[in-house]
Amino acid sequence: MFDLGRYCAICGAAHPSVHAKLSHNIGMVVMRRVEWTEGQMCQGCLVRTYLKHTGLNLVLGWWGMISFIMTIVFLVGNTVHLVTGLIALRSASARQARAERQREAERAQTDAPAALERFKHTIRMRLKRGEDVEVIAAEIADAANVPHEKAHAFVVEQRAAVAEPSASA
Ligand SMILES: [Zn+2]
Repeated sequence: MFDLGRYCAICGAAHPSVHAKLSHNIGMVVMRRVEWTEGQMCQGCLVRTYLKHTGLNLVLGWWGMISFIMTIVFLVGNTVHLVTGLIALRSASARQARAERQREAERAQTDAPAALERFKHTIRMRLKRGEDVEVIAAEIADAANVPHEKAHAFVVEQRAAVAEPSASA
């Protein structure tokens, strides 16, 4: 229903935006006029534009037979645009956050060996002291910000190295 954009046409900011059209009626007893704002809007501009047109509708809309009806039509229509627009923006930002978490997780996977390498000495010292692999792995995973399986595999690797007499750190 809505075209999601990356820019707001109202304030020009690089925010997620939805296409919306918000209108108000100006009743002049026998004549009437309609004014509207249409375009890609970020959340802030959507709310501000909605409030502006709603206010003008409420003050200037009613004056005339057809105007009375059109004012109601616009009040309802604007609210529908506001609500559906906000829902679309919210799900877009949820998708964006999910994608960001995904990218971060992938980065953590890729950077795991380098991040763990920095803890090599500490891990070997703790292994020599006879500390539990699980305990070390859990702490190192947190400290290096890498997935637990990666940290665990690395600690096991280091244990093998420590166990071999030729491979002392
Ligand atoms: Zn904006």
